[in-house]
Amino acid sequence: MRDGPIRTTIKALVRWRYLTDLKITRKILQLKGEGALYKLQGKCNGCGACCKSPMIQIHPWLFYFKSIRKATILWHEKINGFNYIGDNRKEKYLIFKCTHYQEETGQCDSYHSRPGLCRDYPNNLIYEPRPALLPECSYQIVDPNQQAIRESFKDLDLTEEQLSKLKKEFYIDENDQEKP
Ligand code: SF4
Ligand code: SF4
Repeated sequence: MRDGPIRTTIKALVRWRYLTDLKITRKILQLKGEGALYKLQGKCNGCGACCKSPMIQIHPWLFYFKSIRKATILWHEKINGFNYIGDNRKEKYLIFKCTHYQEETGQCDSYHSRPGLCRDYPNNLIYEPRPALLPECSYQIVDPNQQAIRESFKDLDLTEEQLSKLKKEFYIDENDQEKP
């Protein structure tokens, strides 16, 4: 259901706070030498795959606090229009189904008031050690040292298939024509 003026205003305030916090936290991490591990390439093709079941990661220490989980779920249900469908205990994710996602068109019915986490995705992935994009996603995650890694492949006697597998494993740009 499309957001009304009250929800839009609440979401705008929270979003400002969320994106400002994120910017500051990432800047601090970068200054500490703990910034992004990868680079993001490409642009969104609007496929909507990431809207089908948004996932919210909870800090591992907080994940098992029932009240925090409940408050987080309630917030996302009442304000963001996400319906809770389950969790991934191993990765500490809460999994939702978004009521703003329109199956028929693959579009968001409240795109201009979408939450900060929707705006940030998939930037959050480049901070993870083993990030994985959805198969439909047109972005690509690449290692900032891909040139050096690619050079190291030159000494290996690899088949095309093995090389392609290694490129995936090491987050090397698949479309880059430069060889090994
Ligand atoms: S609010 Fe919009 S952008 Fe965010 S998950 Fe739902 S449909 Fe996608
Ligand atoms: S999955 Fe990737 S390409 Fe598709 S809508 Fe989400 S960010 Fe865009």
